[in-house]
Amino acid sequence: SEFKDAGLHPIMLENVQLCKYDKPTPIQRYCIPSVMQGYDLLSCAQTGSGKTAAFLIPILSKLMGKAKRLAAPRPSADASRTYTAEPLVLIVAPTRELATQIFDECRRFCYRSMLRPCVVYGGADSTTQKLELGKGCDVLVGTPGRLNDFLERGRILSLRRIKFVVIDEADEMLDMGFEPQIRKILEASDCNQDDDKQVMMFSATFQKPVRKLAADFLADDFVQIK
Ligand code: AMP
Repeated sequence: SEFKDAGLHPIMLENVQLCKYDKPTPIQRYCIPSVMQGYDLLSCAQTGSGKTAAFLIPILSKLMGKAKRLAAPRPSADASRTYTAEPLVLIVAPTRELATQIFDECRRFCYRSMLRPCVVYGGADSTTQKLELGKGCDVLVGTPGRLNDFLERGRILSLRRIKFVVIDEADEMLDMGFEPQIRKILEASDCNQDDDKQVMMFSATFQKPVRKLAADFLADDFVQIK
């Protein structure tokens, strides 16, 4: 299949086959090669287009090749309460439902790899989420409010090892008033300076605030997919 020619890590290729994805959707056909080549991305995306896999497949595939070197040591049971999660990937989504869907797909793609995904969102007890983070977290999916909450409380979550940031449904989150939180997250990930970090933004519309966010945080040579 075309997935076979995408240069994916063998574990990822197997997981794609386990998911029974026979061929890439159009958005996957555009996004996967760009991300594999290291570009930042601003992509138009409707739900149901396969956009989640469009960013998860290349990001997780790239990390699988480096997981032994990059993965944070897992805390012992004793240390887990004071452990600071230092994910390599951060995916920001507007709602609990979307964050959970992304997390579920993430789990299927991380299968038999060394990558451990976690999800955090508001409107739910934060103790359980903190306990999960304390078991080690390489890929974090979350809503902007809860992510900022954990960042501000200190010692729970650090973004200093981030390599990839995905802003999903950017227009929705800006409409909901989450621009300050998103900017804080991108700044805490140091996305505007370090070009070994890849930033991807997905949005149904490209209104001015979305374009401004992209201009501020994506590399100058970002790929735009309409
Ligand atoms: P999304 O747009 O990310 O919400 O994905 C919509 C649905 O399409 C999800 O249920 C995915 O599991 C499924 N999907 C994503 N990519 C593919 C593919 N290449 N082939 C078949 N199904 C897919």
